[in-house]
Amino acid sequence: MSEQRDAELQAEERSLAAGHAAGYCWVERTDGPGLCTRRPGHDGDHSDYYGGRRKLTDIAGYTWPQ
Ligand SMILES: [Zn+2]
Repeated sequence: MSEQRDAELQAEERSLAAGHAAGYCWVERTDGPGLCTRRPGHDGDHSDYYGGRRKLTDIAGYTWPQ
């Protein structure tokens, strides 16, 4: 067992757990950076509220299909 790989996996699990704990869907965008910040189990497209907004008044940034 590689300790380095193990640490990476644990860090990834913590990151995912943080997103779920915050009440996010947290699905990764398929064609670039982004994590879905809609509620878990939502309908329609995934959406990253924090990433990809072109101006501050945009409601959401990246969106991508389920
Ligand atoms: Zn989503």
